[in-house]
Parts: sequence; C-alpha cells; structure tokens
Amino acid sequence: MTSKPSIGIDVGGTKCLGVVLDGDRVLAEVRHPTPRSPMGIIDTLATIVGELGDLPAVGVGVPGLVTREGVIRASPNLTDVADFDVAGSLSTRLGRPVVVDNDATCAAVAEWRAGAARGHRDAVIVTLGTGIGGGLIVDDRVVRGAHGFAGEVGHMVVDPNGPSCPCGRRGCWERFASGTALGAMGRAVVRGGGLTAITSLVDDVADLRGEQICELAGRGDVEAVGIIDEFAHWVALGLVGLANILDPSCIVIGGGLTASREVLMEPVRRHFAALLYSPELRPHPRLEVARFGEVAGAVGAASLANLSTTG
Ligand SMILES: [Zn+2]
Repeated sequence: MTSKPSIGIDVGGTKCLGVVLDGDRVLAEVRHPTPRSPMGIIDTLATIVGELGDLPAVGVGVPGLVTREGVIRASPNLTDVADFDVAGSLSTRLGRPVVVDNDATCAAVAEWRAGAARGHRDAVIVTLGTGIGGGLIVDDRVVRGAHGFAGEVGHMVVDPNGPSCPCGRRGCWERFASGTALGAMGRAVVRGGGLTAITSLVDDVADLRGEQICELAGRGDVEAVGIIDEFAHWVALGLVGLANILDPSCIVIGGGLTASREVLMEPVRRHFAALLYSPELRPHPRLEVARFGEVAGAVGAASLANLSTTG
C-alpha cells in the first residue's frame, strides 16, 4: 500500500467522519453532523477536506445505492437525498476529481488494504449492523457489478416465508443475521418470560440490542448463549453461500456485535465448519474479526482515493 496521505470521509445517517490516512495509519479524525439537504452535505464535505489539510486525494463513502459514477440513487439513511451526483458536485466545489463509493464497499476496502483481509486476493467482508453490509474482493479487485450495486449480501433470501424486509421482499439474510435481528430474537425471548438476567443491562425490553445479548452471553448466561448459538447458525448459513459462490481465502466479520469477539465468533466458526463443504475437498476460508470499527468507511474511502490517483 502506498504511503502517500489521503483524505477519506464516511457520510453516515447522523455524522460525517473524516480521516487522514497514511499507509495503514489514521493520522487525524474529524466529525461533523450530517446535514439533511444535498448541498448542505457538500458544504460539510468541503469543510472537512479543508480541516484535514486539503490533500489532493479525496474519497467519500456514502450509504445506499451508489452508481459507479458516484451518484446516490436512493439512501434509506439520507431521506432527503435521491439521484444526487455527489462526485460531480464535490469535484466542482474542490476543483479536482474525487472518488465516491458505497460505504460498505469502502469498509471492505479498508479491511482488504489495511485490515483483517490484508494480503488476501479473494475476500468477503460482511458488517452485521442495522442491516448487513457487504463487500467482495475477487482476484485483488473490488467487485462493483454492472451498475455499482454488487455486494448487497444482506438481501440474499434465506427463508421465502420469513419476516418482511425494507427492500420489499421477505426472509432476507439480514432479517436473521444482523444486529437488529439478534435484538429482535432477544426481545421475543424476554416477552416469553425468559432471559430474566437482561434486566441488569436494560430497563425497557424495547431498548434491548444485540450487543447486550452478546454481553450477557459473555458472562455465561445459558439462555443468552443459546440465543447467540441460534443467531450464529443464521450468520454461518449466509457465509456458507458466499463461500460456495466466491471461494474466498478470508471472510471478515465487522459491526458492533464483534466487540465481544469469541462470544459470537466461536459459534459462527463451529456452524460455518459444519455447514460448509468437506475441508478435504476444498480448504475452508479463515473467519476473522474486522480490524477497523467506526472509522472503516472513512479509511476505505481514503484507500480508494489513493488507489485512483496512483493507479
Ligand atoms: Zn431485503
């Protein structure tokens, strides 16, 4: 990886996080609230670039469906933004080209260039959060697809009769294997009179999140361990599909749930190994925890900007 510093900015639903990346090191970070209007977002991005030293290479990660040209078609987290040319508007403002890509793709690039998948030519990166974000690295390249929308792994259907999904379909993988899904599984158990120890972590069951079930499981709570085991089976089921299609040497799992590391990773590895083809026929990919947390999208955007300016 080249060591020329570059700027990366991750536009989130609530905040824009900018970094200066030098090699695999983050030298500076700034945060600003995300404005609602498209031009407000461009103003904030230009401000962040200025605060980070106005370096030549600038990359931006944005949520939602982003075309190869850097146009946001639609974004569930930026409700006032649709068919907005982020790359064109910011390039005009800064007077030089900028790179704009999907935020999950950027996070995947961060893990591939500088994180847990570094050195792997074929890797899959999934982030278990509100939904499931995905990024695919095949033959040392980022897979973008015909329209820029590749890697939407969260919407693989794993149960056609499953719960409805914001995408309009039913039974998508992220309805079973995201942080949101784990929280919902826990709340269902609490409503059935179980998981009584959760009262030590939350006052209102409506606030119960996946991270807290991981925390309880980490303390050895048998019911929480059981919920995590069922959840890990769903996580592994999707990973097995990706491994069969793409034959990666490494799969990286990110998102807040992985803060508990082996509490989740041990059952995921166990189910993954049991569901996957025989290792005597095909080597199993390694399952790794993401290196970058909150800054992954910004770090990856900075990496992409560097790749585009250095070829
Ligand atoms: Zn879906």
